[in-house]
Amino acid sequence: MRRLAGQVAIVTGASRGIGRAIALELASWGVKVVVNYQSSAAKAAEVVAAINASQGQGLAIQADVTKPDDVKRLVQTTLDTWGQLHILVNNAGITRDNLFQRMKDADWDAVIEADLTSAFLCSQAVLPHMQSMRYGRIVNVASLAGLAGNVGQTNYAAAKMGLIGLTKALAREVTAAGIVVNAVAPGYVETEMIEAIPHWLRTWALDVIPLKRFGTAEEIAPAVAFLASPAASYIIGHVLTIDGGWVMP
Ligand code: NAP
Repeated sequence: MRRLAGQVAIVTGASRGIGRAIALELASWGVKVVVNYQSSAAKAAEVVAAINASQGQGLAIQADVTKPDDVKRLVQTTLDTWGQLHILVNNAGITRDNLFQRMKDADWDAVIEADLTSAFLCSQAVLPHMQSMRYGRIVNVASLAGLAGNVGQTNYAAAKMGLIGLTKALAREVTAAGIVVNAVAPGYVETEMIEAIPHWLRTWALDVIPLKRFGTAEEIAPAVAFLASPAASYIIGHVLTIDGGWVMP
C-alpha cells in the first residue's frame, strides 16, 4: 500500500509513542519520513532503522520544535536531503499536569510552547515550500482534553484547544493554495505520556469509555496518514476524535 510513494513528511516527536507509529505508518504508505526528536536519539534511530528495514526511507533529525532556529534547521535539512516536503505532522507534545491553583508559571509556559507554539513555528516554516508546490498536508495532533477539558490539565487543554483554533484558522487561510490542514483529537492512548496518570483517573476513564480500553498509537496513525493523503482533499479544518467513543458530539 505505497500509495504516497515519492512524498516527503516531517513528523515531530516521532522517537516514541504516537509520533513513532505515525512515522512507521506513513513510511508504509511509501513516504520518506523525517523522524524528529528532542533528546531520544537512540529511539529515533530505532524508528529510522525500522523504516529502512521495510524498504522505506527515514531520517532522524534532532530539533527542539519550540525553538525557531531548530525548526528552521529541521525544515531546511529535510529540503536539502529530499528536495520536497508534502506533509507536516505536528505531533510533539508534553504534559505538566497540576491543579490550576497550584500550576507553576514554568509548567504553563512549557506546555503552551511544546503543544501549541511548536505547531505555529513548524507550520510557518513549511508553508513557503508547500505554497510554491501548490500542495501540502498539515495534520495537528490535538487531544480530547482540548475539546472537553480535563482536571489537572488547564495548560494542556488550553494549548490543545489553541491548536484546534490554529488548525481551523490556518485551514481557511491556505486551502486555496492547495494546502489542507486538519487535526486529530485522541482520547487516552497507551504511551509514556499517560504512564503517570493516577489510578483513580484511569479507572474512571475506562469506565466511561464505551470501548472499555485506552487506544494504541497504532490506532491513531492510520487516521493521520489518511488526513495527510490526497484523499483528504475535501476535508478542511476538521478535528477527528479517536477516542473509543468517549465523546460523541
Ligand atoms: P510521548 O510518548 O511522551 O512522546 C512525545 C514525543 O514528543 C517524543 O518523541 C518527544 O521527543 C517529542 N517531543 C516533546 N517535546 C519536544 C520538543 N520540544 N521538540 C521535539 N520533540 C519533542 O507522547 P505521546 O503520547 O506519543 O503524544 C504524542 C502527541 O499526542 C502529543 O502531542 C500529545 O499531546 C498527543 N496526545 C497524546 C495522548 C495520549 O494519551 N498519549 C492523547 C491525546 C493526545 P523525545 O523522545 O526526544 O523526548
